[in-house]
Amino acid sequence: MGFTSRILHSDRRDPIEHGSIHKPVHTAVTYAYDDARDLAEVFQGKQAGYSYGRQVNPTVTALQEKITMMEGGVASAAFATGMAAIGTTLFALLRAGDHFVASSFLFGNTNSLFNSFSAHGIEVSYVDATSSDSVASAIKSNTRMVFVETIANPRTQVSDLQRIGDLCEKCGLVYIVDNTMTTPYLFNPKGVSAGLVINSLTKYIGGHANALGGAVTETGVFDWSNFSNLYHDYKTGAPSQWAITQIKKKGLRDFGATLGPEAAHHLSIGADTLALRMDRLCANAQCLAEFLDGHSKVRKVYYPGLSHHPQHARSAELFKNHGGIFSIELADGVDCFDFINALDLVICSSNLGDTRSLAIPVAHSIYFEMGPERRASMGIDDSLIRFSIGIEDEDDLVKDFSRALDNV
Ligand SMILES: *Cc1c(COP(=O)(O)O)cnc(C)c1O
Repeated sequence: MGFTSRILHSDRRDPIEHGSIHKPVHTAVTYAYDDARDLAEVFQGKQAGYSYGRQVNPTVTALQEKITMMEGGVASAAFATGMAAIGTTLFALLRAGDHFVASSFLFGNTNSLFNSFSAHGIEVSYVDATSSDSVASAIKSNTRMVFVETIANPRTQVSDLQRIGDLCEKCGLVYIVDNTMTTPYLFNPKGVSAGLVINSLTKYIGGHANALGGAVTETGVFDWSNFSNLYHDYKTGAPSQWAITQIKKKGLRDFGATLGPEAAHHLSIGADTLALRMDRLCANAQCLAEFLDGHSKVRKVYYPGLSHHPQHARSAELFKNHGGIFSIELADGVDCFDFINALDLVICSSNLGDTRSLAIPVAHSIYFEMGPERRASMGIDDSLIRFSIGIEDEDDLVKDFSRALDNV
């Protein structure tokens, strides 16, 4: 079956109350047991069942299964936000004295989180992840994992995903790929040997900017038997599935960044149309990037779908399409604020992955806190504008950009 058919009915495999055709929103925090022995077995992991809402909820479980299916993985854990998924996963799997390697082109809050990890005794090295050689040269005796994104935001660098995966496999390192920008529709990191996959569900998977959420998926390709940070109690079943248990028990249960059932419901309904939205918005992004690329008032366009993008070939080889994000630098003398204000259809907003097209002046907003030096090292120019293209009609978008450029 194709991507959409496969996920569309996934939450109806278990019998659903009253024949409801979507998984209902279960708001109960706790569940009753007629036999106290059953409750004990649920707590001891000998029987499947629901205990307390911080750890498990039927609406959330149905969403987790949908994400697992999308990623071709073995199990997923959902969280209140994408940041909670990343933070909880690293918190559950790393210890003081460990080291990990991360891409220097990271989502800004992930970068900020990793800096906090180093303040707690877990050291991080940032490298140019467009080349596996720079990852290789950062590996030390205490390196435990490598963390990269697929297409970086805002400059759209594409990580050397396959070679970094090969390297991690050779060195026995956990390979974590944040797939938010590409989504499981365009790319499955399992195919490049990622052991764990992160998705911010807030973005494309939910797709309507009406709920926050995040997930980590265990792909089943990493052998955890030599990973000494796992507790004995959680090493149950196949060694390729040990981490997700610890992420749920030590991570989610102890940290408590739980996804609420209402949000899970919104995200699950949104996920049903992921493929349709991605096809449409990727085509829109490609068309606009090509239009802007030749325009006299635009100095540079960064989009992996353009043939002059440094990782265009890699993007074409790895991903089904080049995504919905591009960024531009305007020609000298054209003010980025004036240009954004001149756009009519495109909304000035910080999110990405919405059905509506969004624009943001990057250096002055989401990357302001990091300061001019770090911005320069990430290649973020003061005039850089990031666009997250939505599902509007292509002609209307082109007209909006064209008119706004004429007016500045
Ligand atoms: C937005 C985003 C996150 C964080 O997700 P939230 O749901 O906003 O917490 C993580 N990684 C990437 C690549 C993102 O774009």
